[in-house]
Amino acid sequence: MDFREIKVSLKASSVPLTVKSYMLLAEQVDYPFHIGITEAGTLFSGTIKSAAGLGILLSEGIGDTMRVSLTGDPVDEVRAGWEILKALEIRKRGATIISCPTCGRLKFNSIAIAKEIEEKLANVKDSVKIAIMGCVVNGPGEAMEADIGIAGGDGAGMLYVKGVQVRKVKEQEIVKTVLEEVDKLLVERRS
Ligand code: SF4
Repeated sequence: MDFREIKVSLKASSVPLTVKSYMLLAEQVDYPFHIGITEAGTLFSGTIKSAAGLGILLSEGIGDTMRVSLTGDPVDEVRAGWEILKALEIRKRGATIISCPTCGRLKFNSIAIAKEIEEKLANVKDSVKIAIMGCVVNGPGEAMEADIGIAGGDGAGMLYVKGVQVRKVKEQEIVKTVLEEVDKLLVERRS
């Protein structure tokens, strides 16, 4: 009909079906695609399904707009979508938290600390990389590569700023210290 102002969506709740459908159609038409895994599920499983499906499509260059459909708070849908784009390095704004999976070497509560820092920096627009690593064996490398890093010790952590070891920080002061360092860094960048 010579009408071309359209965008195509082929969402399904099955990841393989969705991926295959978009890939097949992408070979045949040049329209923009709105992508998503529909009715993906609850926050945890739905985010994983969406990340798997959207990750494959986006890394193949398929997708112009997207929606993460979760049974939950719409704010979490946006956050999940944003994290998918950040993970694929399609968007680089916002705080990225690198944190280790923890193991027997861990001697401070890195899980709670990483979670609290992530929550407190959820609204940061600038790109900033923060590493919260569990120990001094494998922590310093990642901590040095981040803008701000912590390599944990026994009830404390070594603070790194832009690759430089700065000082030891007590466990209960790590969150506050990292947030202060992020503020400083962002002010520095803007001046
Ligand atoms: S950084 Fe240290 S505590 Fe964390 S997983 Fe690696 S070895 Fe374990």
